[in-house]
Order: sequence, then C-alpha cells, then structure tokens
Amino acid sequence: MAGAAEATRGEVRVFAEYDRDFEEETDVVVVGSGPCGAVVAHQLAQAGRRVVLLEEGPPFIPSEFELEGSKSMSRTMREGGLRSTRGSILPTMQAIALGGGSLVNSAICVRPPEAVFQRWATGFDLEITNRETLDRHYDEVADFLGIAPTPEEVQGRRNTLFRDGCDALGYGSEPIARNVRNCRGSGECFTGCRNRAKQSMDISYIPAAIRHGARVLTSVQVQEVLREGSRVTGVTGRVAEPFSGRLGHRFTVRAKTVVLAAGCMATPVLLQRSGNLANRSGQVGENLQFHPGVAIAGFFPEPTTPQFGATQGYQSLHFLDEGFKLETLWAPPAVMAVRMPGFGHPLQEIFADFPNMAVWDAIASTHKSLGRVRARRGTLDPALTWHMHPDDVPILKRALFVLTEIYFAAGATKVTPGVNGVPEILYSRDEADVLLNHPIQASDLVCGGNHAFCTTRMHGDPARGVVDEYGRCHDFDNLYIADTGIFPQCPSVNPMFTGMALAHRQAEAILDRT
Ligand SMILES: Cc1cc2nc3c(=O)[nH]c(=O)nc-3n(C[C@H](O)[C@H](O)[C@H](O)COP(=O)(O)OP(=O)(O)OC[C@H]3O[C@@H](n4cnc5c(N)ncnc54)[C@H](O)[C@@H]3O)c2cc1C
Ligand code: SF4
Repeated sequence: MAGAAEATRGEVRVFAEYDRDFEEETDVVVVGSGPCGAVVAHQLAQAGRRVVLLEEGPPFIPSEFELEGSKSMSRTMREGGLRSTRGSILPTMQAIALGGGSLVNSAICVRPPEAVFQRWATGFDLEITNRETLDRHYDEVADFLGIAPTPEEVQGRRNTLFRDGCDALGYGSEPIARNVRNCRGSGECFTGCRNRAKQSMDISYIPAAIRHGARVLTSVQVQEVLREGSRVTGVTGRVAEPFSGRLGHRFTVRAKTVVLAAGCMATPVLLQRSGNLANRSGQVGENLQFHPGVAIAGFFPEPTTPQFGATQGYQSLHFLDEGFKLETLWAPPAVMAVRMPGFGHPLQEIFADFPNMAVWDAIASTHKSLGRVRARRGTLDPALTWHMHPDDVPILKRALFVLTEIYFAAGATKVTPGVNGVPEILYSRDEADVLLNHPIQASDLVCGGNHAFCTTRMHGDPARGVVDEYGRCHDFDNLYIADTGIFPQCPSVNPMFTGMALAHRQAEAILDRT
C-alpha cells in the first residue's frame, strides 16, 4: 500500500515544484481535497470533465506520520490542532493535508436514520434529501471505499468491553462500519494510518481522479473567488509552504464551474473575503453547529492492552432519539492526558493504570447550541464563536451517566467523568447518580467538537439558506459548495459519509447542468 501512496505523490504537484507565478484554465476547479471535494473531483474527472483540485496542505506518506500527538497535530491540523471557539470553549480540529479530515479521522461511516432527514425536510424546505434518494449515493461511495463493519479480530479488548457492558444493560451496539481495508488494529488513525489501511482520500478517490485526468495541486492557498457580473470565473491565491504557511508565488485558476470544498470553517471565510459572495440570504458563516463530544476513561481489573484495537471499533445508536451516540475511542496518550484529572503524582498514578484503561465517548445533537464563523483580519483562519445552550446540557449529562453505567456493567473499577463539581473518580454505579443529580452547567463540561456543520446551509428558500439541495449557491449558477457546511442541521451521526453522499449527488447535478 505504501507503494501506491508514493506513486500518488509523484502525480501530485508539491511545494518544491512551484518556481513562478502561474495561471491555469479548466472546466471545474475544486477547492479543498477532503472527503467531499475528493468525491466531486473524482466523479467529474471520471465523466470526462477537466478538473483541477487545489489543496493548501501537503501530501503525507507513511514515513512522515508522527506518532506523538502534539507533533502530529502541529503538522496535520490547522492552528496546530489548538483551534477553539469563543463564548463556550469548544476545541475543534480541522486538518490541513491532502485528503483533509480523512487523513486523521477514525474512518467511521454511518448513514443517519430517516428521522434526521425528516427533520431536515420539514425545517428547511427540502424535497429530495432523504434516505430514499441518497441511499444510491451512499452505496456507490461504500463500494468504492470498501466500507464494512470492523472485524472481530481487530476490535481489541477496549472495544469489546463496551459491547459487553451494553449487552449486560440491554443496550443495542454494533461494530462500526469504516472506510478501511485490512485494518491491523494499530489504534493510530488520529496520527495517520501507517499501514495505509484507512482509505483516506489521498490513497482512494484522489489517485482515482488523477487516473481520470484530474490535476492535483497541493500547497496552494486559495484566497479569493473571482467573479464577473452574475457568474464566478475562477479562484486566485498564493503558494503556501507546508507547516510554516509562508506565502509565495501567486496563481489563478480560471474555470467554468467553481466548487468550494474547503470545509465548514474555511468556505464561509473564503466567501466573506471575496466581497461577501453568495450571501444575499445573510446566512454565510451563520448557524454553526457541532456534535459536542464528551469522553470518559474507565479502568478494569485486567489488562485491556489499549494500544491494540481499531481506533473506534464499536458504537451504540441506542440513544439517538435522546440526542446522543456512543462510541469507543483511542488517541495518543499525550492527547488523552488533557482530559485526565490531577497534576504531578495523581496524574502519574492514573497513567500507571494505562494498560488497564478504555476510553469511550458520546457525541450529542445539540440543535439549540449555535455559533458563527467570521473572517479574521489578515488571515484565512476563522474567528469562531459558539454558545452551548442550557437546554442542551441535559443531553450530555445523560450521555455521561449512560457511559458510566456501561463501564461498571462491563466490570470497570473506576471511571473519570471529567465534569467540574463532580468527584474526579467514581468507583461504583451508585456513585454515578451524581452525574444526573448534580446541577451541571455548560461551563462544567469538558467537550470537544470535531464534527462541524451548517455555516453555508442548504435551504429550499433562497432567503434562508446559501445553497440548494444540490449544493449550488442560490445566488450563482456556476458556484457550488461541497462540504459539511451545507448540512442544514447536525446529522446526529458521524458526518463524513453523508458529506460524501451529498457530494456524489452534487457531481451528477453539475454534469447535468454543464
Ligand atoms: C480527529 C478527527 C476525527 C474524526 N473522525 C471522524 C469519523 O471517524 N467519521 C466521520 O464521519 N467524521 C469524522 N471527523 C469529521 C470529518 O473528518 C469531517 O467532517 C470531514 O473531514 C469534513 O469533510 P470536508 O470535505 O467537509 O472538509 P475537510 O475534510 O475539512 O477538507 C477541507 C480541505 O480544504 C482545504 N482547504 C481549506 N481552506 C483552503 C484554502 N483556502 N485553499 C485550499 N485548500 C483549503 C483543507 O486544508 C482541507 O484539506 C473527524 C474529524 C477529526 C478532526
Ligand atoms: S486502526 Fe490502525 S490499521 Fe486500522 S485504520 Fe486505524 S490506523 Fe489504520
């Protein structure tokens, strides 16, 4: 597999190859090579369109992945992985790399239940965005990427203990379906899959797009969308040195169709920096939603050997109607340490129990908790604000309680709930009641939000949304958005698969119209 990645790199234009300003002309320019942009680029190239895919980050090969969490984040994530919202503090990570978030994510692929699409349809005047119309697109993406449930032999004990706990309590659970082939259970998805098992875009859709003639330019930062009258005409920007971000040569790519797939945080900034483009609705950068996530560590009497096992191998959709989804989780110890209680010796003691540890998390559908994305002067990094609504806090409280319950049902001897005002360590199921009874507020919770949506939302009414159901901007015939920013609301399950299915459908619409 490593050979395939290296071959891909040879066909991708990299930083060292830019020695002057340049201009290109093409049918379609796609900005951003994450899961959504990669699918659009591939589908259009396969159909014979001339496609140029632009990516600000560099390509990575397995030998370049850093196992140490903070080193890895400083290379693969925007703002070194330390980006956060203001208002309520919510750390949020966005990748900067060929393949976007798919390089560093856990490859979880879940289709939202029909109830999610019904909510979207009624709330946002949508007619054709439902499981019936999208399942064909999910199926094609699934076939292409080999999406399948995580096999038992690479689950590892920290994942199967979750299943045991759910079974004991009568909660449904199942192996997580992932875009992975021949996973070895190394638990390293967050720092990049050195086994090249994860089918991230840089080794799946992007090389396939190249085989169909797409041109892929990395280390190029798009800074503005160009417009002439009622049409967009391309994009312009600067070459950006990997890791330092230092800007160099200028470039312009002229295109008949522009697809912005820069991600939920970057696309609205690009539009704002391009003269507040496509914003007659006033919704560009508004409505920012997350799936805030909470994680708990549990400790077992016997070794869990946590280094072994698929990063996220088991999940429970049992509580989706209550607003949360449960998952198993693993990350580099330095990243997990920020969630552990204590300093110095107490922290050392927790880490002495590391071989017996499991970490499980919950992600929540918090529809009332909203924020916004604004361009910051002098940079393309966004200014983010977001507020957790008090009505959404009980969802997370309940999720923390259920996770704790599952730990003790699976045989854990202690858990670390990570909530201000609640004991740092709970030793029994009875002690877990404090999570329900204590008056917990939003600021007491330690959450992260790596699933982000809605900043250029789709809406059937052009006065209330930025794009239509095919991702076409209401204000411009030839400007599309293909990233999770077009979701009208959070999808309640991990977003990548839905982003790719929508992008797959969008490519068909572009082909029909151009
Ligand atoms: C640690 C982590 C784990 C996750 N795990 C999962 C999971 O298991 N399953 C799941 O469904 N979701 C997961 N997610 C979320 C998922 O990765 C994202 O929802 C998904 O990547 C979004 O895809 P996208 O195409 O919208 O944008 P992105 O993946 O963010 O891609 C956007 C791309 O555009 C590029 N770009 C941005 N601005 C510019 C510019 N100005 N010029 C040129 N290029 C630019 C970026 O560098 C980036 O490569 C995870 C996220 C993180 C951070
Ligand atoms: S668990 Fe390891 S082998 Fe499996 S996809 Fe993740 S990084 Fe690759």
